[in-house]
Amino acid sequence: MLKLSPSKIATYKQCPFKYKCEIDTQTRLSFRKDTPDLVFGNLIHGCLNDFYKRTKKEDRNFETLRKLFETKFKYSFQKHNKVFKNKETIIKYVEESKKQFKTFLKNKLSKGEPLVTEDFPKYLLNPELELEGKFDRVDLIDDKLVLIDYKTGKYKEDGQSNYEFQLNFYEYLLTKKYPEYKVDKKILFYLKENKIDKYETSYDLNEVENEILDIAETINNDIDLKPKRNSLCNYCDYQQICPIFKER
Ligand code: SF4
Repeated sequence: MLKLSPSKIATYKQCPFKYKCEIDTQTRLSFRKDTPDLVFGNLIHGCLNDFYKRTKKEDRNFETLRKLFETKFKYSFQKHNKVFKNKETIIKYVEESKKQFKTFLKNKLSKGEPLVTEDFPKYLLNPELELEGKFDRVDLIDDKLVLIDYKTGKYKEDGQSNYEFQLNFYEYLLTKKYPEYKVDKKILFYLKENKIDKYETSYDLNEVENEILDIAETINNDIDLKPKRNSLCNYCDYQQICPIFKER
């Protein structure tokens, strides 16, 4: 059965061969490398999840977030030491975490009580296609759903259109998981720059479904999954086994 998420679709569009590597667990585990930015993003997301799921309302403050980060960092210290490489880099990211937590706490979104955080919804669109994703956070405000996606990297003015499909996909999943509620808005919360990007809800979710079905058909019919050179090749973990780069 084909399993699709917004990130798998984005990877396929970027390069079918990279998609093939990513969906093969053994290849992925052998070649995919953790980067400091990626691990840092996961740590921040994990802290914000625990901040709601495992912290009493009266204890939700900066000190709690700081301690959560420290605990998570120390819990996998060997791995983190390897990824962040040296003391200076570790200090840089610890300082960045404090900055992002302060930004988060200043925003009124931090005061809300989420309906759910770090949720991994799945939906069987048809017997051959399962949709999956990750909701960082969903709030229920005035009987309407608000989807919040935390971003820990830089805001890129020209890269925002890439998120529209991801958010539409998530909105579609939300309506399947919570059919009793309407979706009010979708929010990208940039913690590094304290920037909020709000997106309107999709007027026609049938169109979103058709778009997903079209992509699924393209992937199903793509037997070769050939490499496609692109601007991110230099950062690709699979260059070593990529037919384009192996032949050089
Ligand atoms: S190096 Fe480029 S072409 Fe090769 S797999 Fe990676 S993204 Fe695709």
